[in-house]
Amino acid sequence: MTRTAVVIGAGIGGLTAAIGLHRTGWQVTVLERAAAFAPVGAGLVLQANGLRCLDALGLGADVRKQGHADVSGGTRRCDGRWLARIEAGVLERMLGTPAIGIHRAALHEILLGALPDGVVVTGAEVRAVTTDGDVTYQNKDMAVQVNADLVVGADGIHSAVRKLLWPEAAAPAHIGVTAWRGVTPVWDGDLAVAISWGRGAEFGMVPLIDGRVYWFAAVNAPAGGPAGDDMARVRARFGNWHDPIPALITATSTVLRDDLACLDKPLTTYVKGRVALLGDAAHAMTPNLGQGANQALEDAIVLACLAGRPDGLTAYDQQRRPRSQQVAKASRMIGRFGQQLENPIAVAARNTIMRLTPPRLALRSMSRHADWRPPPGCEPLSQ
Ligand SMILES: Cc1cc2nc3c(=O)[nH]c(=O)nc-3n(C[C@H](O)[C@H](O)[C@H](O)COP(=O)(O)OP(=O)(O)OC[C@H]3O[C@@H](n4cnc5c(N)ncnc54)[C@H](O)[C@@H]3O)c2cc1C
Repeated sequence: MTRTAVVIGAGIGGLTAAIGLHRTGWQVTVLERAAAFAPVGAGLVLQANGLRCLDALGLGADVRKQGHADVSGGTRRCDGRWLARIEAGVLERMLGTPAIGIHRAALHEILLGALPDGVVVTGAEVRAVTTDGDVTYQNKDMAVQVNADLVVGADGIHSAVRKLLWPEAAAPAHIGVTAWRGVTPVWDGDLAVAISWGRGAEFGMVPLIDGRVYWFAAVNAPAGGPAGDDMARVRARFGNWHDPIPALITATSTVLRDDLACLDKPLTTYVKGRVALLGDAAHAMTPNLGQGANQALEDAIVLACLAGRPDGLTAYDQQRRPRSQQVAKASRMIGRFGQQLENPIAVAARNTIMRLTPPRLALRSMSRHADWRPPPGCEPLSQ
């Protein structure tokens, strides 16, 4: 008999899990709250671990075509002075594949295109889930109930599945940082991939294909912040930072804003009965390591590989929880040591440490988290 799976949430993690489960013989339905997929105006850095997951699904080549491979770059001060530099190709030599900058909408489209028509149901907000696999969702004015052998909670940081079935879990906690993301239209100036650090603030830039640039900015600020024009806030805070930051901001018409939060208290299990959590629903992390989506991809591949086994969900929890929670912890630490530092003495000490750290050592610690491969046995996923 065909096994059935309901995936809740059509983000990067949910769609990837749905593709993997479909390829391993599951009859999959994806329930997505949004009525339509609006192109999200932001980019994303996919690292070696995330790209290897997409390779396991046979989608790596298509994704790389839509991505911009890493160029030289590093970490800078807000006046532009370099603290650490990485030459183009170094990460590729270390990990066998470069990281890429990609527009989220492009990645999303590739993932959606890898699923048969009718698998993804939009405008379907899940309101109730049981550990026996009953899922109730609202579609237009109707409440619809389905039952599945496997339910995947891939519904993001404010996961309804986590709230319903993990009542003991603490809600995601705001970390005292607000972030903005933007994408410029065609940009013809020079560009190094760089993260620039000031006091309690950072600005990063990543080239995309077709000449666009994805940038992100973060500042220490209480959640909510003053109402009003986000672009004006970004300009006021970063308008006097080194080139080309002011020009990148001026070239951008809209920004996305997030008051950053993470699951400070790690979950004690990702699995209850027939239900498994993945991605931000399981381990929402700060973006400092650029690993949130990459970890969601890892979860999705491992779940698809293991879910068919009698002990599959237990094995999924055992493989994924320690790794993803360790990455989340490291990401939080890097944020505290990097972007969030405000005290001038601590900032000066951070910058000195960054300047004196041998580049190979810095690279090794950065690439440590990206150096992951799907476990053996995932090959059938690419068929
Ligand atoms: C500023 C910033 C920069 C980042 N940069 C990077 C980066 O460079 N690299 C990286 O790897 N990660 C990055 N991340 C993290 C990354 O965006 C997330 O970790 C990733 O998108 C999580 O994917 P997901 O599939 O788990 O959840 P999501 O992408 O949040 O998807 C969840 C989906 O579930 C749907 N949903 C929610 N509730 C329901 C419901 N009740 N019923 C049905 N559907 C529902 C939502 O509409 C959504 O489509 C960044 C994050 C931020 C904030």
